[in-house]
Amino acid sequence: MRQRAARDQQRLDSGAVTSPKDLESLQHEIASLAKRQGDLEDVVLEVMERREAAQERVAELTARVDAIQAKVDDAVARRDTATDEIDTEAGTVTKERELTVADIPADLLKLYDRIRAKEGGIGAARLYQRRCEGCRLELNITELNDVRAAAADTVVRCESCGRILVRTPDSGL
Ligand SMILES: [Zn+2]
Repeated sequence: MRQRAARDQQRLDSGAVTSPKDLESLQHEIASLAKRQGDLEDVVLEVMERREAAQERVAELTARVDAIQAKVDDAVARRDTATDEIDTEAGTVTKERELTVADIPADLLKLYDRIRAKEGGIGAARLYQRRCEGCRLELNITELNDVRAAAADTVVRCESCGRILVRTPDSGL
């Protein structure tokens, strides 16, 4: 289009075109070419601006994706560490339990496991200051007297929750 406008301008300047009608038509074409060129330049400018805005948006979104990915990586690493710690602890506790269980009579262990399954994972509870630490209820006087009267190797149980009560010097007996 620029070439055509330049050629038109050259013809106009050369004086080769002499007819007023042709001259007018040539000038008209030059003017409309100039306008069209201006319009196209505006379009190009707009496209470039939009491209720039789009590139900025891409950069912004990429940064956000990177930040989120970093958070995900961090969370995964912390989860993996926690899982390792839990596995190690579970291994230790399992070994400790095996050692402890070896010293407990089979029927008592059976009773303990049965209560534990029924009572949310806690089969035995400390009797602390006249209170069962399994269900948090205080033993009444009759119950306390029964526990007091029981021999040291008798298995005593909480009347309220059924758990095995573990007597200690702090039991309040
Ligand atoms: Zn209880």
